[in-house]
Amino acid sequence: MTLFPGLCDTVLGESIIGRARAAGKLTVCCHNIRDYSDDPKYHRVDDTPYGGGMGMVMQPEPIFRCYQAVLSQLEGRRPHVVYMSPQGSVLTQKKALALSKMENIVILCGHYEGVDERILEEIVDEEISIGDYVLTGGELPAMVLVDTVGRLCPGVLSDESCFEEESHFSGLLEYPQYTRPPLWREREVPQVLQSGHHANIEAWRREQSLLRTKKKRPDLLAWAELTDRDRLTLRALEGAPGGDSAEKMWARFVRYNKRYKRRGYSAWHFCNCEEDANALAELVKKGVKRATTSALAAFEHDGEPVPQPGDLSVILRWNGEAVCVVETTAVTILPFDEVTAEFAALEGEGDCSLEYWRRAHDAFLREECCRMGLEFSTDMPVVCEEFRLLMK
Ligand code: SAM
Repeated sequence: MTLFPGLCDTVLGESIIGRARAAGKLTVCCHNIRDYSDDPKYHRVDDTPYGGGMGMVMQPEPIFRCYQAVLSQLEGRRPHVVYMSPQGSVLTQKKALALSKMENIVILCGHYEGVDERILEEIVDEEISIGDYVLTGGELPAMVLVDTVGRLCPGVLSDESCFEEESHFSGLLEYPQYTRPPLWREREVPQVLQSGHHANIEAWRREQSLLRTKKKRPDLLAWAELTDRDRLTLRALEGAPGGDSAEKMWARFVRYNKRYKRRGYSAWHFCNCEEDANALAELVKKGVKRATTSALAAFEHDGEPVPQPGDLSVILRWNGEAVCVVETTAVTILPFDEVTAEFAALEGEGDCSLEYWRRAHDAFLREECCRMGLEFSTDMPVVCEEFRLLMK
């Protein structure tokens, strides 16, 4: 019941709800309260508020007559009557599910300053709000309600499991979703989702749901349906306030990427200072930094092998907190002054120019040389390593 039936009909005539209506899975009728006005000339349905104050209030009688007309179409079945109101209880998925089980629902949309209190007492079963803010009318809230309730009704979505896994259904937020292509702008769909291993995929999705909910809406966890295993996962997350250690991140990585299980990894941070180490680790995590450069002499000096394509690394923050897992994809050794602009861009630092790269690496390599007791020269060999992000 609304003052703007055309608006509602148009919106609810499109997309999934529109198709469900056309297919007879859902019936939505929009009734114009003005048709039941006492005023034949202007079809007024509002008047000034008793006691004074701003705005107009919708009168009870036109709404009541409209309601009776709706009742007459329902052949004696009593509908559940909802008034869309900023004073109502805030709509949740649980409420939507409960409403989707009802046969007939009448929705009253208010306008102006609202409706005369007596009509609420006379016909309304509950007041529902779509959030703690005020709109000009109840039409948009009513459409939100019809959409969210309608899609839960049998036959409206092609597969009911569509919504069973969605955010809020079990009290958790949904896991991240991906579609083709598998590699988009250097960002790969997680290996586990490409593996076709259903049990692993399910475990990964559950963990992601828990992670996301904890990160984005920790308030939901108080009400979510959690298994003992979920609680364990959450406790593990809580037990690492500074984040994962390299071992923990690696264990999580191989759990979903079994083909890497037998492979070793190294854990390291960038640079020789906390600020740069943390900033560069963040750039890798964001997918901006996809390469790094070191002095060839440093590997020899530190007794470490020169990186090879296929090497796996856990990138750390300065404090040892693991940030992400990367795989080396290419290694080139060449003189410092022959490093190309393309490679500088892959390093993703500053404005990604060769000039910036030279300035930053000149300073870094001079410091490295000093540490090793060597002299810096612009033709000294450097190791240019490219990598791809596997997990963050
Ligand atoms: N004077 C009313 C008050 O303070 O509670 C607000 C009236 S509001 C401007 C006009 C109508 O918009 C309401 O009668 C209601 O139907 C609808 N409305 C506004 N905000 C809403 C919300 N957050 N949820 C549901 N309906 C809302």
